[in-house]
Amino acid sequence: METMKAVVFHGVNDIRVEDVARPRPTAGEAVIRITATTICGTDVHIVKGEYPVRPGLILGHEPVGVIDELGEGLEADYTVGQRVIVGAITPCGQCFYCLNGAHSQCHGPLGGWRFGNTINGAWAEYLLVQDARANLAVVPDALTDEQVLMLPDIASTGISGAESGNVRLGDSVAIFAQGPIGLCATVGAKLRGAGLIIAVDPIKERREMARRFGASIGVDPAAEDAVDTIKRLTDGRGADVTIEALGRQGTFEAALRSVRPGGTMSSLGVYSGKLVAPYEAIYAGLGDQRIVTTLCPGGKERMRRLMSMVQHDRVDLTPLVTHRFALDQLPEAFDLFSRQADGVMKVAIYPRR
Ligand SMILES: [Zn+2]
Ligand SMILES: [Zn+2]
Repeated sequence: METMKAVVFHGVNDIRVEDVARPRPTAGEAVIRITATTICGTDVHIVKGEYPVRPGLILGHEPVGVIDELGEGLEADYTVGQRVIVGAITPCGQCFYCLNGAHSQCHGPLGGWRFGNTINGAWAEYLLVQDARANLAVVPDALTDEQVLMLPDIASTGISGAESGNVRLGDSVAIFAQGPIGLCATVGAKLRGAGLIIAVDPIKERREMARRFGASIGVDPAAEDAVDTIKRLTDGRGADVTIEALGRQGTFEAALRSVRPGGTMSSLGVYSGKLVAPYEAIYAGLGDQRIVTTLCPGGKERMRRLMSMVQHDRVDLTPLVTHRFALDQLPEAFDLFSRQADGVMKVAIYPRR
């Protein structure tokens, strides 16, 4: 049996670097050799035991790699050695949900999210990709691994916050939380042509990063009432679109309270427990607001579009990569990332480093 190195989840706060069986593709599947991957806030939830996955699973859902082996039926579309990215969400493209346009919900709720959730993920030397024809996105030669590393998940997710909110030219947009996802939502608001972009986060460095990424103004919710400030900045109305990028009751509520009547609250956060919408925030249910939720859009066409934005200099997310590690050091990188120590934003993991 051929083996590979991988980071395996064994239980709450227990991830280990181990030798495991190297995957082999069957028809329609591909195996890629991972050249770069990263750690997501969702992985932190998993390891802390806040989102259950089965022990023995390889985590990680943000793969950049090179095609190593192709299963039957893919010869016409791909060749071994091609550099690819794969979205965190890998829709089949054929089920009820996919054919109704809800690709992330492939086969059922959250079903498009497979890597590091229901099947082995990207924290490994090799990764098996199912439904490869719908999901392997070839990386243009001009782009480095690090330039595309944020695309499989956080860029796709963050930017989708602005897309789902249907941000229009000249809209005022307020984004709650400026972690990696919130920063990408700020980028999305700018790309969609927003006028005033308000970035809300208690951490000064994150507000500064938000300004770099297109925010007009940063608001510190610890120092002032963010809802009042947003209303003041929008002639008392509230923002046209608000985006929630944290997954807490407080930010959900603030995002709802600061969207104008007839506006859209676009939610990206991952919530737990109960979520409450105060009646006055939705004008007793008569405010004509829309609340939309989005799970990261995936599939190769989404990845191609995001790579086009990078290749043509519309987006540069490399400033988000603040630390670099080898695969062996992933538990150490995880510790740093989960404690948000040393000003970390995102880490890059290079298996061959
Ligand atoms: Zn993620
Ligand atoms: Zn499907």
